[in-house]
Amino acid sequence: MKDWKIGSGRLFIRQGDITTLEVDAIVNAANSRLAGGGGVDGAIHRATGAAKLQEACQKIISDIGSLPPGEAAITDGFNLPAKYIIHTVGPIWHGGTNGELKLLKNAYLNSLKLARKNNITTIAFPAISCGVYGYPVKEAACIALLALKKGLEAGLVEEAGMVLHGETAYKLWAATAEEIL
Ligand code: ADP
Repeated sequence: MKDWKIGSGRLFIRQGDITTLEVDAIVNAANSRLAGGGGVDGAIHRATGAAKLQEACQKIISDIGSLPPGEAAITDGFNLPAKYIIHTVGPIWHGGTNGELKLLKNAYLNSLKLARKNNITTIAFPAISCGVYGYPVKEAACIALLALKKGLEAGLVEEAGMVLHGETAYKLWAATAEEIL
């Protein structure tokens, strides 16, 4: 694990399984229907005991229709150590000319704003869009880390960080953070 002091807060990068983290909120790389799926979404659904989370997600979707890329919604954390789950939808990578950068940045910033609204002070993110959505990881890491930095500087939360699944991803994100923070 590595961390950086940003404003009066802290940005951390660690390797592991985000479902095990004891923070106020973990972020889910969800899809627009909040329907669950593979990757980190599947892991979170399994770890919560699926049924209750699914019900909460369906309630949100019946209220708002769908969650557009870049936006965020919140549910309870149910059986997780984290108190809440913030669901956000990253962009699908289409080559970089379809507004992907802005949407990815929004996914992080809107999650941090929603955290602030719910008095969440510690929050952990997975590498949104870096799995099946195909975002180039180095570019995604720069966008994500600068968004977290911005949120910490604005005092939206006290601690925000990334949880990377696997050593290769962890090393790349940590090296990127050393370069740009
Ligand atoms: P997306 O659809 O946004 O690309 P994915 O779930 O496919 O989302 O992948 C996002 C990232 O989450 C990938 O880098 C993947 O390795 C990672 N990931 C998968 N499972 C976990 C987990 N349990 N904890 C943290 N990260 C995870």
